[in-house]
Amino acid sequence: MSSVQIQCTRCKNVFRDRAGRLQDGYSRQCPSCEVVLFFAEDSQHPFVKRAMRDARKVRKEMREADAAKLTAPEPQGQQSRRFAGRTRSAGRED
Ligand SMILES: [Zn+2]
Repeated sequence: MSSVQIQCTRCKNVFRDRAGRLQDGYSRQCPSCEVVLFFAEDSQHPFVKRAMRDARKVRKEMREADAAKLTAPEPQGQQSRRFAGRTRSAGRED
């Protein structure tokens, strides 16, 4: 729920990353072809622009859901830890 889809600019593989990390200056490796993707607000690439736009939207929705979360917290920490473990095995850490 707090992650967005990213499409690799090189191999076109689609993967997911957390919206909270996907901000200007962020970079990460494609789990498929291992090219490093750079996310910048002034990027001209449509895949990067779309991912950043989606991440902004999700972060906004997360902020709006924060108040509701006080009464019903989601097990997001558990999910992200599992996801991080999977990406770590696919490529090296920055
Ligand atoms: Zn790739």
